[in-house]
Amino acid sequence: MADAVDVAIVGAGAAGLTTAIFAARLNPNFTIVALDSAQRLGAKILVSGGGRCNITNVRVTPADFFGGSPHVVRRVLSAFTVDQTVAFFRELGVPLHVEDDGKLFPDSNRARTVVDALLGEAERLGIRLLTGRRVTAIARDGDQFEMGVAEGAAVVGDAHPTPTRPPTSASEGRRYVARRVVLATGGLSLPKTGSDGSGHRLAQALGHALVPPTPALVPFVLSGDFHRPLSGVSQDVELTIRAAGDKPVRLRGALLWTHFGVSGPVVLNASRFWHRAELEQRSVTVSASFLPGDDFAAAERRLLELSQSQPRLSLQHALGTLIPARVAEAVLQELGIAAGVSLAQLARESRRRLVHALLEWPLPVTGSRGYNHAEVTAGGVPLAELDPATMESRKCPGLFLVGEILDVDGRIGGFNFQWAWSSAWVAAQAVAAAK
Ligand SMILES: Cc1cc2nc3c(=O)[nH]c(=O)nc-3n(C[C@H](O)[C@H](O)[C@H](O)COP(=O)(O)OP(=O)(O)OC[C@H]3O[C@@H](n4cnc5c(N)ncnc54)[C@H](O)[C@@H]3O)c2cc1C
Repeated sequence: MADAVDVAIVGAGAAGLTTAIFAARLNPNFTIVALDSAQRLGAKILVSGGGRCNITNVRVTPADFFGGSPHVVRRVLSAFTVDQTVAFFRELGVPLHVEDDGKLFPDSNRARTVVDALLGEAERLGIRLLTGRRVTAIARDGDQFEMGVAEGAAVVGDAHPTPTRPPTSASEGRRYVARRVVLATGGLSLPKTGSDGSGHRLAQALGHALVPPTPALVPFVLSGDFHRPLSGVSQDVELTIRAAGDKPVRLRGALLWTHFGVSGPVVLNASRFWHRAELEQRSVTVSASFLPGDDFAAAERRLLELSQSQPRLSLQHALGTLIPARVAEAVLQELGIAAGVSLAQLARESRRRLVHALLEWPLPVTGSRGYNHAEVTAGGVPLAELDPATMESRKCPGLFLVGEILDVDGRIGGFNFQWAWSSAWVAAQAVAAAK
């Protein structure tokens, strides 16, 4: 016997939970079930924003996203705006406040309040939240869907996973039948929270293509040893990513040196460009300007002014007034320029070599920390395969897709959650209206 419901939501993360909530509010008569492979819901929300959950941003535009058509992204974002997001969470008892770069966080500064509010609202609305249910197959049968579900399925991160042989077809194992299915399985980032890419395979089996996924918002691993002694140092830089065939991408922000390479917001934002070029086997380099905003002339002028105002200051100390002292020391050592000479004593040739190095410091990227450390997945189901007015599949009517499973990835700052909330809202309108 199969459980029959009006709407089955596969994946109860940010996008799946809110789709369920919005749909249940719009159509209280519907039976809605949300099936999730994880034993505990909300794991990714709990670790988001350093445990504080950066829910959205005061200003969200298509320029903050990559992947599918900006026109579609704009349309989806404008259907459920930042103001609506703020009002929705306020209504759930989660007021938000603005921080640096327009990021909005809960006043509680605890992601737990976000998860509790969403789960509480889902429960109030009578949504059936079923955990430990991994959807392994979805088959369309006339005007309904049949889902094969492995119960108690092993999900990395569960304390005591119960291994079961997953059904290999929709007619095996525990079955659910639904008139509408929403795929909200996320991508591949942080797989221990449950998003292991199985949603991509479910979508493909229902006729969808897949823009090849790569990690995004992920730290870089560097070769060599330059970064090692700098571990823990943070500085403002401008990164330039040069990929064959593309215009150079320049990004400014904080870089954090680590024992494995580099991290920090500007690095995370750069990672998708590096990964996409690598995926397409295009040559790609990354360099950092330690004097962001300066061109060669401006940077050289700064050094000359320093040498005039403080002629006896050692080169290392002079440089330490412009960039972190440990980075200044490491740069001079790497260039083989004596740290103890004064700026005034520095030969013109060495000064120019130093300026050039400060503006174009190569970062020898060999890879990234991968999906286990990526905040988001680039690539996914192409937006062109959906109706942007409803998020309904053009390949498989009755199927809806929301959140990170789609070929949309935002930069750091609350944009990925806003995509989850907005796409959920659009899908919920259509799902709830369905006869
Ligand atoms: C460390 C970290 C920090 C982040 N911080 C922020 C932030 O502060 N602000 C921001 O905007 N974004 C942030 N993000 C990104 C954001 O969390 C995601 O973009 C967002 O959670 C995606 O929501 P989703 O519902 O589409 O997917 P997910 O949250 O990944 O949820 C997918 C759900 O589907 C379930 N699932 C998968 N496959 C199956 C299956 N076959 N059967 C049943 N269930 C399945 C999973 O168990 C999971 O619960 C962060 C991400 C990480 C990893």
